[in-house]
Amino acid sequence: MKELVEAIRAQGKGIGTDIVKVDMFLNHRLDTDLFVKMGQAFADAFKPETPDIVLTVEASGIAAALTTAMACGNVPVIFAKKSRTRNVTGDVYESTVFSFTHGVENHIRVAKDYIPSGARVLIIDDFLANGEAAQGLCDIVRQAGAEVLGIGVCVEKTFQPGHQKLEDDGYKVVSLAKIKGIANGQLIVDD
Ligand code: 5GP
Repeated sequence: MKELVEAIRAQGKGIGTDIVKVDMFLNHRLDTDLFVKMGQAFADAFKPETPDIVLTVEASGIAAALTTAMACGNVPVIFAKKSRTRNVTGDVYESTVFSFTHGVENHIRVAKDYIPSGARVLIIDDFLANGEAAQGLCDIVRQAGAEVLGIGVCVEKTFQPGHQKLEDDGYKVVSLAKIKGIANGQLIVDD
């Protein structure tokens, strides 16, 4: 997606050899116009399919999930929670995800009530690296007896194996921008 690629080129930075920092518009300060366009791009990419639910994981997936859900006809967004909280009571679907950026295992969970069996679920996240977050979300959808319609990510790092793993699992994966590598703090963006 042209606008996202331009923003990455203008404002993105590389940290070490594998971390992409896009805090200026995607992860800390949110460029709302860009998020609205990304939501529409995901809705278009999965047409004619339309989801019943957009599913993501807190916190950095929520903004893109919200604009996608709005572009898909104002369907609900569910974000998996990473911590056990008193807000999520009763039965939950749970999966274990290794966090690439934090280097720890997270248990992600969604209240069973919110994913009806048979629901058509579109998974959205900000980044795709090793595919752990998306695989954990797919696992939760499977536990619910619902269907993964596809997986949309704003930024894919093509030098990491997530996309291939998800395709091998049989899922359609759409990424709006692709980063091929990082050299001396500079991002090498795919055109
Ligand atoms: P995966 O589970 O595919 O290994 O990693 C995806 C998750 O880790 C995303 O939810 C995202 O929040 C985080 N992530 C992975 N790589 C990066 C990165 O290079 N930059 C940022 N900001 N987040 C990342």
